[in-house]
Amino acid sequence: MSEVCKRCGAGMTSDEAALNYKYIGRHVKDFLCPACLGHDLGATPETMRQMIDVFRRQGCRLFSPLGSGENGQTSGGT
Ligand SMILES: [Zn+2]
Repeated sequence: MSEVCKRCGAGMTSDEAALNYKYIGRHVKDFLCPACLGHDLGATPETMRQMIDVFRRQGCRLFSPLGSGENGQTSGGT
């Protein structure tokens, strides 16, 4: 599945599209890229991408499963 942002036309990954399900709802048909969705939510695109990571780590089935080498990897400073 590859969606295109309805606002800016940017392509997005299935994980980025899945954020729309998380933040807007399962009924969503018009997908927003992390930048536009973040704008609506008052969050940065970086934050939105970090949330993908969080949801993946939670095992949320809307998102692709963590691959080997990805688990336990933490970014972000103090
Ligand atoms: Zn966009």
